[in-house]
Amino acid sequence: MPLYVYEAKEGGCARCRNGFEISQSLKEPKLEKCPDCGAPVMRVIQAPALGHSRTDLNYRAKRAGFHALKRVQKGEYEKLY
Ligand SMILES: [Zn+2]
Repeated sequence: MPLYVYEAKEGGCARCRNGFEISQSLKEPKLEKCPDCGAPVMRVIQAPALGHSRTDLNYRAKRAGFHALKRVQKGEYEKLY
């Protein structure tokens, strides 16, 4: 069964605040709540090498070739990354 990572949207307990892994079959519905404390949770897309925080998502986007553009002059942009 695939492993999924869930993380509390807000609040949460020691288990879900920093994300936890749970194995679920594909047929099972997504978890909506932490099984321990009942806080609302969301499923996090797993990236084993880089963790799953929001800053890592931005970092990965850059590494994946998305470019942030800086406006240099009117109508001119420079690639920052
Ligand atoms: Zn919890």
